[in-house]
Amino acid sequence: MRERPVITIDGPAGAGKSTISRLLAERLSFIYLDTGALYRAVAYHLIQKKYSVNNEGELADLCRNIRVELNDLAGRLHVFVDGEDVTLKIRTEEIGLLASRISAVPVVREVLLSVQRDMAAAGGVVAEGRDMGTVVFPDAEMKFFLDASVRERAGRRCREISERGERASLRDVKNDILLRDRQDRERSIAPLIVSPDAIHIDSTDKTILQVVDIMMGVIQKKGNAQEQGKKCP
Ligand code: C5P
Repeated sequence: MRERPVITIDGPAGAGKSTISRLLAERLSFIYLDTGALYRAVAYHLIQKKYSVNNEGELADLCRNIRVELNDLAGRLHVFVDGEDVTLKIRTEEIGLLASRISAVPVVREVLLSVQRDMAAAGGVVAEGRDMGTVVFPDAEMKFFLDASVRERAGRRCREISERGERASLRDVKNDILLRDRQDRERSIAPLIVSPDAIHIDSTDKTILQVVDIMMGVIQKKGNAQEQGKKCP
């Protein structure tokens, strides 16, 4: 039994999940669990080791031996792979696409499933990813599905890339997003789908803070309803 709730936020690439989850976690004084970073860390390590994505044996070996840690340093989530800080290195489009490919391999999901559950064992977590509400935390107290149009998502990704001082064309980013969407939605294991009990939010015409406020409103309403339920049995 968890002491505090788990809140899940699922959705496709570029829907604003990371920033929104981080802000929501801050407001609630919860831990922010970025599960995409785990898949990206495995993808990064695969390249470092020069292993093949098609070799399930090598992937299994890598997943079982990799040590991924998510640490909060001065209010920012840092990702460590075997002690190396890979926070910025895993944010490339190349790693994102490779993460999407390896995330369809059963052994990768199997190993990361227990890692994610261990990280959220005590609750008090905002967990963000693709299968949080459906597979990893089906019993989460509150579930959201965050979406936005492909055009908006590609635009946001492009702005993020240029803020990092890098360049990418809107067309290339949009194609990468479409490819990743297809891979994530069509895989046979833990595909990206809307959990029937999730609250669906379209962030296309909303600011980050508007979405966070909507989520906080829903969470507070649920909290109030539960308090009322306790008072009036
Ligand atoms: O969210 P982010 O873009 O960092 O995730 C990278 C990739 O990792 C996704 O495209 C997806 O294929 C995979 N992923 C997943 N399940 C999660 C989180 C991420 O399959 N819970």
